[in-house]
Amino acid sequence: MADFKVTELDPNLDFDKITYWDVVIIGAGPAGLAASLTTAHRGLTTLVIEAKDLPGGQPQFLYADKKIVDIPGFPDGITGDDLSERTFRQAVAALVQFRFEEELVEIEDTDQTEKEDLLRRVVTSKSSYLCRKVIVAVGLLHYPRKLPVLDQLDSKRVHYRIPRINDYHDEHVMVVGGGDSALDAAVMVLQRNGRVDLLVRGEAPSGKADSVGRIRELGGNIRTSTEVATAEFDQDKIVAGLSTGDSLVCDLAIVQIGFLSARDTFERLGIKLNADGSIAIDPYFETSRRGIFAVGDVHGDIKLITVAWAEGIQAAIYAFKEITSPYWLNEKRLRDYKIAMIGQKMSEAAAMHSTDGAKRK
Ligand SMILES: Cc1cc2nc3c(=O)[nH]c(=O)nc-3n(C[C@H](O)[C@H](O)[C@H](O)COP(=O)(O)OP(=O)(O)OC[C@H]3O[C@@H](n4cnc5c(N)ncnc54)[C@H](O)[C@@H]3O)c2cc1C
Repeated sequence: MADFKVTELDPNLDFDKITYWDVVIIGAGPAGLAASLTTAHRGLTTLVIEAKDLPGGQPQFLYADKKIVDIPGFPDGITGDDLSERTFRQAVAALVQFRFEEELVEIEDTDQTEKEDLLRRVVTSKSSYLCRKVIVAVGLLHYPRKLPVLDQLDSKRVHYRIPRINDYHDEHVMVVGGGDSALDAAVMVLQRNGRVDLLVRGEAPSGKADSVGRIRELGGNIRTSTEVATAEFDQDKIVAGLSTGDSLVCDLAIVQIGFLSARDTFERLGIKLNADGSIAIDPYFETSRRGIFAVGDVHGDIKLITVAWAEGIQAAIYAFKEITSPYWLNEKRLRDYKIAMIGQKMSEAAAMHSTDGAKRK
């Protein structure tokens, strides 16, 4: 199948006015970016949803400064940062649209159709989007669980990782969570002259007892059976209304309430998973829910940028074929099945023939 014609999207297209997207891609890592370029280059309106505030996926967040030496065409290597920036720039030039700091929650079926194609609703942490096809490219890494009541402040004073020392030195910090990482965060702040209120939802912290003892020793205030009910800013202070009725005024918040595993995300999608928890796909990268594709690290053994690219591109082309001629994949599957059946019958006949020949001898 020769498939390399580029059809540009109309540069005057008003993306705010479209009623549904042709393709929504979840994840702006190598797989998602490559898929997005490919669908946009075929004239499909394409939206990419990315949980983080930057595109690139693992090469950007895990090894931005490393020289990647196994990408064909870059004999001197290329850094994760540079590669991510270039691919993103290429996607933007193709008119791919992006939503950052937005997480996939679920993908709903609707009763709306477009040219016999069932529309899906991609629900995210901030909005929802109607579309014809979805490509899931979220990788396998784990992401810190957000606390919506603090997240809505949309502030750099709310941290989901331990901030740099200068950010909490001498400050009053609300640490949310009762596990080991929350306790460690509380100890670190207290050791640098910060004041700590540790909010624990349960009756006692679940982390190590000696860390709890250390927090008490250093003068930290542990509030058990307590959650943040409301939060707002008063000048540059966070004012939290607590479930106990108290209110707490602090300089910053560190939220350590566990991680959202990729498996949680996959399970919410209601698609078939492999025994190892990765997403099960067919030879066309389609999941058990038709119209939802999965590419890159979310499945398979070979976890490489070039493999993620190749899969993103293939799924994008299958999605394109399905959009331009619905049921194309089903017909292709049927043809493949028929060819397999003919092959099986031919080998059975050949086996029978050789047994007959052997008997005659
Ligand atoms: C330390 C290290 C070094 C590596 N070095 C190399 C190398 O030298 N060469 C090489 O080829 N490969 C290398 N790899 C592997 C390579 O980085 C991965 O195979 C590749 O990044 C997979 O791409 P992906 O798009 O499938 O997933 P990812 O890169 O993980 O991208 C997934 C994206 O989806 C986003 N996302 C996740 N969940 C959600 C959600 N719920 N909603 C919205 N967005 C979401 C993430 O924020 C992320 O941006 C390395 C991996 C590691 C860990």
